[in-house]
Amino acid sequence: MNHRTLLRNAQCIFTGLAGAPARSSATDLRIEGGVIRELGRGLAPLEGEQLLDASGCVVYPGWVNTHHHLFQSLLKGVPAGIDLTLSPWLQAVPFAYRRGFDEKRLRLAARIGLVELLRSGCTTVADHHYLFQAGASEDAAALLFEEAGALGLRFMLLRGGATVTRKLEDSDRLVQPPETLEQMLAAVEQTAARFHQRGPRARQRVAMAPTSVHVSLPREQLKDVARAARAMGLPLHSHMSESVAYAEYCREVHGCLPIEYLADNEWLGPDVWLAHLVHLTPGEMQLLGSSRTGIAHCPQSNARLADGIAPAPALEKLGVRVSMGVDGAASNEAADMISELHFAWLLHRAHAGAQARPRPEGQGEAGADAVTVEQIVHWASAGGAQVLGFEGVGTLQPGQAADLAVYRLDDPRYFGLHDPAIGPIASGGRPCLRWLLCDGAIVVDDDQIPGLDLRQLQAQAQAAVKALMQAS
Ligand SMILES: [Zn+2]
Repeated sequence: MNHRTLLRNAQCIFTGLAGAPARSSATDLRIEGGVIRELGRGLAPLEGEQLLDASGCVVYPGWVNTHHHLFQSLLKGVPAGIDLTLSPWLQAVPFAYRRGFDEKRLRLAARIGLVELLRSGCTTVADHHYLFQAGASEDAAALLFEEAGALGLRFMLLRGGATVTRKLEDSDRLVQPPETLEQMLAAVEQTAARFHQRGPRARQRVAMAPTSVHVSLPREQLKDVARAARAMGLPLHSHMSESVAYAEYCREVHGCLPIEYLADNEWLGPDVWLAHLVHLTPGEMQLLGSSRTGIAHCPQSNARLADGIAPAPALEKLGVRVSMGVDGAASNEAADMISELHFAWLLHRAHAGAQARPRPEGQGEAGADAVTVEQIVHWASAGGAQVLGFEGVGTLQPGQAADLAVYRLDDPRYFGLHDPAIGPIASGGRPCLRWLLCDGAIVVDDDQIPGLDLRQLQAQAQAAVKALMQAS
């Protein structure tokens, strides 16, 4: 293996940083031992250095996906849930099929989801896996780390689960009853001891992530769980305020709004990030911002389930740390990062424009600067690494992990662009990867994943879908 690499002649390098330094003036980037050593123009090759010619290509940081459910990669477009909102969809799709996921099928689903992400330029994946029940082994956790490791990805397990059964869940579909609090905490501790790495450029991390904290735990357990996670040095994650049903439930059962409930129970802070955050009052947005809580913004899933639009740009202005997630493929039939980012770029402009009003009552045309390409890149790289707690990851700067995507711009969809560098995000579609590097190692080479037989994976997916349909 070559330990030194020089990437040369890139048309543009996006750094992942916010504001003016979002685009580097460099064209070349030197990597040594998996770490970026130098950015510059006209860097001279050193002896024995592997040379990667990035002429006609644009370089972005490897994407960081902060919320996923890999098991759902075999549950795309299930007809029973295709036109349902969140609550009936949960019942009809993920909960209805959960029994169908033995280790073999989970491994296949994870592989499909990870491959899809890799081919979009993603190098860090956080999977919110919640199929844990009483007496279940932690083999699912080991299996997920193993699959991600085999593909050369950085991986974080968001260890989900619940200590109570939700009304929505058909108890006949549960393989075992939910875990007790003691079982859950002991299992997370074991998993963290085995897989959680600290320090710069860690490859594996673990988070404490009860599935939907307002319903997955009784009120008296919220603080215990938060304190246990903090004692273990693990961050906290959960679904929150995805649909109006969250506010309805919290008002009825807890007598307050969802984010107020979290604030009262030590579930906000710089070590917490929450998936979705679509329906929020101004007061809740202030609580999230002042506590520096993070968001995994999942606009495609939120659109598909008719949840609404998370106010990510407004949350960022208030101090919320913004990151991007694709969410599970059962509610996002294109669970890849480029689709998600392209959609986010368009959606926030549409959202801002939908609120514009004619003059003189309103301000007239507005909203085309609601989000920029550079801002989206920042959310999906540095923003993601920050919420997940991966130090030394997420930006292309000296000393940082060499996680980077080199996209070709030779497809007709990019022809005619005055600023070709924005093509992969602004033009959308499936990008063509010349290389994807994680820790300096090539994990995608000329759009191919070395050693992976895509036709075989397709055949396995077809057989698994057929079996799942027959069993449902
Ligand atoms: Zn989710």
